[in-house]
Amino acid sequence: MLSLAAHYTNTPKSLGLARGEKLPPVHAISHSRSSRFTAPLLFRAPRCICYTRPVYKLRDYQQQAVNSVVAFFRKRRDPVVVVLPTGAGKSLVIAELARVAKGRVLVLAHVKELVEQNFEKYTSYGLSAGIFSASLGKKDVEHKAIFGSVQSVARAPDDFFRNFSLLVIDECHRVAEEGATQYQEVIKKLQDSNPGIFILGLTATPYRLGLGWIYEYSHVGELKTDKKRFFKRCVYELPLSYMVKNQFLTAPVKVDIPVTSYDFSALKTVNSDYRTADIEEVLKSQKPLTPLIIANIIDITERYQRQGVMIFSASVKHAEEIMGFLPPGQARVVLGDTDLKTRAAIVQEFKEKKFKYLVNVSVLTTGFDAPHVDVIAILRPTESNSLYQQIVGRGLRLAADKKDCYVLDYTGMGHDIFAPEVGEKRPAPGTVPVLVPCPDCGFENHFWGFADHDGHVFEHFGQKCKGAVQDSVTLEIRPCGFRFRFKLCHACDAENDLAARECVQCRAVLVDADAKLKQAKLSRNSHVLTPDRITLEERLDKNSRPFLEIRYYDADARYLSEAHFFNHPTSLKKFNINFLRSHLRRPELAGEFRSPDDVVKYQKLFRMPAYVIARKQDKFWKITEKVFAEEL
Ligand SMILES: [Zn+2]
Ligand SMILES: [Zn+2]
Repeated sequence: MLSLAAHYTNTPKSLGLARGEKLPPVHAISHSRSSRFTAPLLFRAPRCICYTRPVYKLRDYQQQAVNSVVAFFRKRRDPVVVVLPTGAGKSLVIAELARVAKGRVLVLAHVKELVEQNFEKYTSYGLSAGIFSASLGKKDVEHKAIFGSVQSVARAPDDFFRNFSLLVIDECHRVAEEGATQYQEVIKKLQDSNPGIFILGLTATPYRLGLGWIYEYSHVGELKTDKKRFFKRCVYELPLSYMVKNQFLTAPVKVDIPVTSYDFSALKTVNSDYRTADIEEVLKSQKPLTPLIIANIIDITERYQRQGVMIFSASVKHAEEIMGFLPPGQARVVLGDTDLKTRAAIVQEFKEKKFKYLVNVSVLTTGFDAPHVDVIAILRPTESNSLYQQIVGRGLRLAADKKDCYVLDYTGMGHDIFAPEVGEKRPAPGTVPVLVPCPDCGFENHFWGFADHDGHVFEHFGQKCKGAVQDSVTLEIRPCGFRFRFKLCHACDAENDLAARECVQCRAVLVDADAKLKQAKLSRNSHVLTPDRITLEERLDKNSRPFLEIRYYDADARYLSEAHFFNHPTSLKKFNINFLRSHLRRPELAGEFRSPDDVVKYQKLFRMPAYVIARKQDKFWKITEKVFAEEL
């Protein structure tokens, strides 16, 4: 009944920047004096490291993370991010960076526990440092490295901000993009004093609900978002699968659930996740399932002698309902408004195994640490794979006598702990993350799509290539920009994003699909058909010339049709624009179609539109527009 969750491995092939482009070297610290680049005076020359050899041993990936940051900052000053999964030893990476940095370093965190943890790691190696945190009762200003809480540092006198050359922000996904937040305030004061200050963020979760990716380019040059971000790049990222494979984390084991799961398929996302009110509505209709699910959790826990169970509920109401079915005395609940003292006491008792079941409403997704947890039960739906990974991550800490961690997923959403976050919202049920190489640059894109049992991708919803070419000398990044699917401008034929409201080239107003549909539905001379099936056939016109007839049938067997000839370059071009371009399931694989027969033979390559719009011309209906799922 147990099955190992499929491991998602990033093949070296999928790490390509562009054809022929190599990854930036990890060991970029040059020992040669004749290096063409004069490193900014941030980090000690490697020769110095020999004299101040670290008293601790970094794991290979920790050293690589440090090297990547140093290599990048030797060439550029953009704020960057390092992504390390929980348990990867972030504080050691911070300690080493603070140690090798030449100037003064400020390390910020948002809670005093993290400030303390980072400070202790650094000082435990015999290095001296200061703390600037009101809640820790210390306001040091003199040391080379200062560990501070953002709340206190934001209120520090102006003098405090002088002479820092490196700012490190722990849990950097909390840095807001704009507005007068404490982080932005501190950054501004530091930059006022030293415009060239280097800024590095560390996080396990570079993806935020409602915002998306917190940086623009990944460490392999993948464009993560078109929007401006404070952090420009991720320079190093360690996948969770590496941690599990190398036994730095416990292996998650996805348990097949014999009882029924909740059905959340009716939920719609708002700002890339679900609204609590909507979830509660769904849960209300599925109330009888909760006792069955809880009984299943208890059954598995007892049968396999599990030590600690974390149950993630969807709302406060849901948590209370769940508590009603758990063994009294063996279960506690932590809610968002549970005061910090009580919360700490509950977590402490849980760690001491005084009770077995800890129910919570997404408050313990980060920073929580109870290594003995060996069952994660997920009863809250989430659209975000990284949130799912954070939840499962709570059970992956190593502990004595712990072999694995059971993952019981009752949401029926089919997340994969090792799968990448695609970022865009899932376009259709049944879609999975698929790899699609770009025909222009060769970059392997993660898109939503459909694949058969052999992993062969037969359809995808990708729009723009996320690859980029990096200049190996300046580390400047240029996006590839190839478009798989696009909207053609009616005025100048330029390719535009599907969501574009205005042409990038000529600024013409582009009407979106919704508006077109609305307009057509209101007009007497238009007809909107929702196709149910499509047929492609070769026919002959009255001069015995072959042509392709494509019919779109609705559920009542009414149809609209279009005809394509192949005997002239202009007609071929028309076929390309009006059919081929938008109908191919994999638009980048456009082949040569030279006859109706070709098209009929390969009709499996084509997809159906969501709507077909026709206009009355004399006695006939002429198809003027087709709207596809991704445009809606
Ligand atoms: Zn490309
Ligand atoms: Zn245009």
